[in-house]
Amino acid sequence: MKKHYDMIAIGAGSGGLSAVERAAEYGKKCLVIEVKTIGGTCVNVGCVPKKVMWFAANTATQINSAKGFGFDVELKNFDWKALKTARDNYINGITTWYDGYLEKLGIDYIHGFGKLVDKNTVSVNGKNYSADYIVLSPGGEPAVPHIEGAEYGITSDGFFELEALPKKVAVIGGGYIGVELAGVLNALGSEVEIFGRADTLLRGFDPIIQAALEKDYTAHGIKIHHGTTIDKVSVDKTIFTNHGEFGGFEQIIWAVGRNPMTQHLGLENAGVACNQRGFIPTDKFQTTNVENIFALGDATGRTPLTPVAIAAGRRLSDRIYNDMKDRHLDYNNIATVVFSHPPIGTIGLTEAEANEKFDKVKIYQSEFTPMADALLDHKTTTALKLVCAGDDEKVVGCHIIGHGADEMLQGFAVAIKIGATKKQFDDTVAIHPSSAEELVTMR
Ligand SMILES: Cc1cc2nc3c(=O)[nH]c(=O)nc-3n(C[C@H](O)[C@H](O)[C@H](O)COP(=O)(O)OP(=O)(O)OC[C@H]3O[C@@H](n4cnc5c(N)ncnc54)[C@H](O)[C@@H]3O)c2cc1C
Repeated sequence: MKKHYDMIAIGAGSGGLSAVERAAEYGKKCLVIEVKTIGGTCVNVGCVPKKVMWFAANTATQINSAKGFGFDVELKNFDWKALKTARDNYINGITTWYDGYLEKLGIDYIHGFGKLVDKNTVSVNGKNYSADYIVLSPGGEPAVPHIEGAEYGITSDGFFELEALPKKVAVIGGGYIGVELAGVLNALGSEVEIFGRADTLLRGFDPIIQAALEKDYTAHGIKIHHGTTIDKVSVDKTIFTNHGEFGGFEQIIWAVGRNPMTQHLGLENAGVACNQRGFIPTDKFQTTNVENIFALGDATGRTPLTPVAIAAGRRLSDRIYNDMKDRHLDYNNIATVVFSHPPIGTIGLTEAEANEKFDKVKIYQSEFTPMADALLDHKTTTALKLVCAGDDEKVVGCHIIGHGADEMLQGFAVAIKIGATKKQFDDTVAIHPSSAEELVTMR
């Protein structure tokens, strides 16, 4: 006889784990199924290892900057292997912690590939399990283009497997993952070239961010090729593009987007609809077109970020198991950070988006060399923009690039989420000396 659960989640990443954890806290019996490693993308091949590498890269930058402050230090050696081992151990610690955590909450865990059999049944490792509610949270995987020689490149997953710092790297893609990996590799000593299809890095971001990032990356030796399409790659890792051939690369990293892992999920067996790209559409309550089946996180094609998947999963279980009838995630005004060098923090509308949406838009912006770099040879840019709308100048967008932007934005995100106006920003007394103070003093 098949075992019956209140909830089964397919995919033990940020979304799936959050839904079953919250459900278990309400006393529900849950099963979570994972085919790779518990924790999903974020913990294993995403946010966490990426941020460790970003900290390492920042350390290299700071050592190189120390002489500006009178220190007689020189960066002599960097042991990539030691960093990778320490990083892997750190992540292993997180993933093994999950085992005890799930056990404590009474959540069953099965390692294997979960597939829908019908709208209440999931099969894994040849056995069927049923549930009142099923959560689809399979996340995504890096896309690789269908071109000759694509196999000579690696993806962000492969980046985390590298055993040595590559001397020269081509990063294909100017989106946030490409920009982050390029920044890390450059700071740690690789020669880096970015090849992007668009005419700017970080398409869709506010131009103040795009321009400042391109200026800093170029000043730090990263070569950027815009408007590039890759025709093929040869075995010696030469890239053939619409702008000619580029060679000498030790690694090529495809950072050209991510595809949802929905292809073999058995969606058709339960009648769950997905769109042409394989993403599963949901309503605001994360419900698919089948009323007892929900989808969360990257597989829904909406705002692919860990805290988004977590928030959606927790709210889902709050709603169905704690009588919070309208509980759902509001996808507006979600803050996001790009861990570039320097980092970027952004929330809300860009200037162009605000102009489309509102009649009256006022922009406040500022660009300067941060005090942290004043004594250094290699300086970075800090640029900030507030996008305000209406007569009361409600702040509808905030875009920051510069040291500390990653930590700076969270507090401002609260203010923007609750609808703060420019006057309320201005009524807040500045913290001095800081870069953040510009956001409450701009005229
Ligand atoms: C390089 C990189 C850096 C990132 N950095 C950040 C960051 O700094 N901040 C941030 O917020 N987000 C970041 N992200 C995005 C973040 O990792 C994702 O948004 C988040 O992990 C999505 O959670 P999820 O639950 O939808 O999917 P995932 O975390 O991907 O989890 C899905 C899990 O389901 C499993 N699975 C798939 N199909 C099946 C199946 N049929 N049966 C069983 N298991 C299955 C997969 O193996 C996977 O473990 C980054 C992503 C990448 C790739």
